[in-house]
Amino acid sequence: MAKSDVKAPAKKRAKAASKKAEEKNGSVKKAVNPAAKADGSVAEKLVDLYRLQHLDTQVDKIRTHRGELPLEVEDLEDEVAGLETRLNKLEADLAEVETQVSEKQNLIKDAKAQIKKYEGQQAKVRNNREYDSLTKEIEFQNLEIQLAEKRIKEAKAQIEAKKAVVEESKTKHEERSKDLKLKKKELDAIIAETEKEEKDLQKKSDAAAKLIEERLLSAYNRIRSNARNGLVVVPVERGSCGGCFNAIPPQRQLDISSHKKVIVCEHCGRILVDEYVVDRVVGGN
Ligand SMILES: [Zn+2]
Repeated sequence: MAKSDVKAPAKKRAKAASKKAEEKNGSVKKAVNPAAKADGSVAEKLVDLYRLQHLDTQVDKIRTHRGELPLEVEDLEDEVAGLETRLNKLEADLAEVETQVSEKQNLIKDAKAQIKKYEGQQAKVRNNREYDSLTKEIEFQNLEIQLAEKRIKEAKAQIEAKKAVVEESKTKHEERSKDLKLKKKELDAIIAETEKEEKDLQKKSDAAAKLIEERLLSAYNRIRSNARNGLVVVPVERGSCGGCFNAIPPQRQLDISSHKKVIVCEHCGRILVDEYVVDRVVGGN
């Protein structure tokens, strides 16, 4: 960044710039005050520069803001996708427990059929040994039935609990999906709106840039591309640089308000302007 002050341009060039500016149409013309230009061209150049900065800062803000909007939608999309995965897993778990129940129910059916068969055989046995053996088989099948019934009871309790969780997740998923839809719509509208605003501001910025002599404009563009926050022309705020916040010596502050030449910050190289210049741009006149 430039360490030395940018010298005030020659009067001839100022005149030429003024004439050139007058040829340009409308919106920024009010800045070009021929009377002021005649004896205070540096002030006018600073006003033009600060106007350009003011417009570009607004464009920067819109771009930064818009850049964050899709992230919000992305976060919601991730959340909805996460809920979907969870819901699918819960439903798969539920189906598995339900399969276990019907398996146990089949097991009970088979055991009952076996018992019937053994009871039929008992009626035909010839000795006590065979009869006792069949009794033992029947007892065993009855135990199997009891165990299966116990497992079914447990599984049914599990199913109830899982169903409650599934319902809860479904409700949450529906809510978040609705949020997502709304947010997307809202953001699309904001994006469309800010794009229009940005275009309008960019047009004004382009027009404002045309009023600035080439040497100053290229310095402006160079500093702007290096400055982290896009600030090139900054006001003096409470005796400090509005860009890097380092203190400005009193004599330098006097030089800045005298508008005799373009003065840059010793620390960051940004162009410094006083309240008069700021008011001319944002003061609504
Ligand atoms: Zn500075």
